[in-house]
Amino acid sequence: MLFDNHNRPINYLRLAVTDRCNLRCFYCMPEEGIHYLPKKELLTYEEIIRLVRLLAEQGVSKIRLTGGEPFVRHDLMNLIRNITALPGIKELHLTTNGILTAPHIPELKKQGLASVNLSLDTLDEERFKMITRRDEVKRVQETYDLLRKHDIPVKINAVVMEGKNTEDILPLIELTKTQPVSVRFIEEMPFNGEGSHYTALTWTYKKIIDHIRIHFPALEKITDPENSTAYHYRIPGYKGSIGIIAAFSRTFCGTCNRIRITAQGELKTCLYDDGVLNIKHLLRSGITDAELMKELLTVFAQRKKDGFEAEQSRKNHQPVHESMSTIGG
Ligand code: SAM
Ligand code: SF4
Repeated sequence: MLFDNHNRPINYLRLAVTDRCNLRCFYCMPEEGIHYLPKKELLTYEEIIRLVRLLAEQGVSKIRLTGGEPFVRHDLMNLIRNITALPGIKELHLTTNGILTAPHIPELKKQGLASVNLSLDTLDEERFKMITRRDEVKRVQETYDLLRKHDIPVKINAVVMEGKNTEDILPLIELTKTQPVSVRFIEEMPFNGEGSHYTALTWTYKKIIDHIRIHFPALEKITDPENSTAYHYRIPGYKGSIGIIAAFSRTFCGTCNRIRITAQGELKTCLYDDGVLNIKHLLRSGITDAELMKELLTVFAQRKKDGFEAEQSRKNHQPVHESMSTIGG
């Protein structure tokens, strides 16, 4: 098992397989002028599998594929089949916007996918268009229905934004009345690719909980799974649950068990750092597995205590501004 210098286990890898996306969510990417990475700058599937195999040998047992939109990358199912076949990988999860996902659901089920996080900030067609700059809500809803039909656990991710979708909080919660879904509300972070329109966070996790409680006074706190980033709640009698993720307030760092590989092949030991090791360069330098593991152990032993310290450590104290599409969420 891998541990960091704060005695936190590291057993969960989140991997951004591409920075490309078929939506343009305004909190993640600018509408235009995006410079996608040339394909050769992405880790190849062979490089990803080597890295995952090595980490799995050291106790990393949970993988999440994310992006950009993972299904925009050619032949993602090939990568998925190879990862699920690796010894030590107990859970493979996916985060997707659901636009291209539906045709792959039967195969995902066959591969034993543990769960899907489906991004859906609103059920309203017009607001979906305004937030994602694309008219695709119906396809996301079809994907949601199909995932449920195949009995694949679904979590809906909704970023809560002042003036954009706060009226969607209650309708999204209503989904949990009859469906065993987890609806998670996420604090907006400044990872929008510009750093501009983000001024301060209005909808903090506290405000989100207070808002829900006004409308559902019976809201009940339930136990949070180990290493969870969300505070979990439910409404008595409802089938699903509600999660609130304090992504900007960063209340969960003390139990953080995750590392990230960006689309550029950079290792991040915190969402808020700007990369602590260039894995791609190492993989392409002819490094042996033992040498690579040594490099990884060195950065795990220097991990920042929390997201505030990690943000302070960014090169030239550059504020957070990069697009979440390169990080994966
Ligand atoms: N394209 C896929 C999707 O949207 O599900 C996967 C990648 S996306 C970057 C992963 C998650 O990050 C999504 O749930 C999205 O809502 C979230 N996200 C993106 N930008 C964010 C921001 N500025 N603040 C909070 N969450 C953000
Ligand atoms: Fe694409 Fe996901 Fe970013 Fe939206 S949040 S632009 S779907 S990568």
